Amino acid sequence: MIIERINFRKIIDSRGNLAIEVDIETTSGNGRCAAPAGASTGIYEAQAYPESGINQGIKIAQKEVLPKLIGMNVENQEHIDQTLIEIDGTDNFSRIGGNIAVAISLASAKAAANGKQIELYKYLKNVDEIKIPAPMGNVLGGGAHAVGGTDIQEFLVTSFCDNIMDAMLANVAVHSRVKNKLKKRLPKHALGKGDEGAWVAPLSNLEALEIVVESAKEIGEERSVEIKTGLDMAASEFFINNKYEYKEMSLTSEEQINWVAEIIDKYDLYSVEDPIDQEDFDGWAELTSKTNALIIGDDLYTTNRNRIEIGIGKKSTNAVLIKPNQIGTLTETRKAIEMAHGAGMVTVISHRSGETTDSTISHLGVAFGCHAIKTGSVGGERIAKLNELVRIEEEMK
Ligand code: PEP
Ligand code: MG
Repeated sequence: MIIERINFRKIIDSRGNLAIEVDIETTSGNGRCAAPAGASTGIYEAQAYPESGINQGIKIAQKEVLPKLIGMNVENQEHIDQTLIEIDGTDNFSRIGGNIAVAISLASAKAAANGKQIELYKYLKNVDEIKIPAPMGNVLGGGAHAVGGTDIQEFLVTSFCDNIMDAMLANVAVHSRVKNKLKKRLPKHALGKGDEGAWVAPLSNLEALEIVVESAKEIGEERSVEIKTGLDMAASEFFINNKYEYKEMSLTSEEQINWVAEIIDKYDLYSVEDPIDQEDFDGWAELTSKTNALIIGDDLYTTNRNRIEIGIGKKSTNAVLIKPNQIGTLTETRKAIEMAHGAGMVTVISHRSGETTDSTISHLGVAFGCHAIKTGSVGGERIAKLNELVRIEEEMK
């Protein structure tokens, strides 16, 4: 499975921005992968493209990566990924772009799976027993993903069913119930959707949370399905001069920890992502020690093993969000997941707010034993990942 050709292509993502798509052709199979883009990016994540843009990244990749990778065996993933890291030469892929690196890395794995004529999740499987991660989808939100919504970026539901379709339909039903409640509550307002298909409405954070908790409870009872509510606060986005600056209040770090612990308790929240600023490992640990909910580090860790290691040492979280383009290679993504699992933490693999119809993360989530997959509830680029899970489940059976 020797790489014969690599093609770089510009496509557009769900926000209409340019995105990279990479095709890899080998002597026996081909792979294609497109990279997504974040809006509320962590300061420690790989830089998606070089300072001067995607064209510069493609130019460097064509000139420097292509000659090194042509002739390599795609089954040698670690070597390919190490080569990408060495060619880039920075610690955050700022020269060739993390998105270009991750698209090459994942396209290589897909070419290898294709060459073996097996599905990617089977090719990558590193757990004894594979299962479909629970779908976690946002139904209401704001933050950097919308204009005029809540300060909290995402109000999410996660459904647990013994088949993926029932779980997806439960999430969709909550999304729809939230719409009905918003229509009733705000009859004179236009309703909008954010970048990931979640509803956006002029509500306070707690008003929004109450609507989602109520909707999840109703749908859960109607369908006899276990539906849990969660948040992605993306708190680093509104942590300004050492204060959490909400539209309706301003909290110190200690007040934020107590407030989040209180709402977890009051609303029986299942998961809270990024409740604390990305630099404050100790604040995270204090919150995690106060609750049984999943406290998920996204901007805190940026899928980076050095940062996950700090979090393990300080007991900062009990869960890790995984986004391959935050770190730039498949090998690093896999190792980050293994490190988290090794420390007894659960992982949630995730889309980005700017997405394409690429569904590689669905395979990674299954192959690497992720507990859940955060990929929205509705919208073409979101359902691309969910529907791929339907296909994977069918094939697994
Ligand atoms: C997130 O914060 O988890 C997220 C998906 O948003 P973005 O892609 O904008 O970082
Ligand atoms: Mg997040």
